[in-house]
Amino acid sequence: MANLDDLYREIILDHYRNPRNRGELATPPAHRVEGFNPLCGDEITVYLKVNNGVLEDIKIAGHGCSISQSSSSLMSAAVKGKALSDVRAVIDTFKQLMTVHESSLENESEQAPIDLRALGELAALQGVVKFPVRIKCATLAWNTLTQGLDEI
Ligand code: ZN
Repeated sequence: MANLDDLYREIILDHYRNPRNRGELATPPAHRVEGFNPLCGDEITVYLKVNNGVLEDIKIAGHGCSISQSSSSLMSAAVKGKALSDVRAVIDTFKQLMTVHESSLENESEQAPIDLRALGELAALQGVVKFPVRIKCATLAWNTLTQGLDEI
């Protein structure tokens, strides 16, 4: 039986080496938003095309460490084609995943369980919370996406 950590590492490496939805979209009609993580030097540009309340298309450009790159690839695959309300729900669940360690230390009994199956491949990034300096790498794409959705 495969070790879960090995499986997660495989998923992260796969998305780093073969990033999904890499590229650019014409603006307009797409919306362009940039994010930067000065702690690590990660830079990301997210292109969003929203139509009738649906995130029709998303493209990711930029460069950075393996965590930031694989997280943006995993994110794009998770939200593309979804209704904006569902996109927001995925963002909330992922941010919860990135804070679970911190908040469970503070208040273990009230920590709501996270449905890892609902996260699919995104669950591979849960190991990042053990390395606080990497959390900003993992959340960069998500914060940038949130900013873009707020601007539209
Ligand atoms: Zn980074």
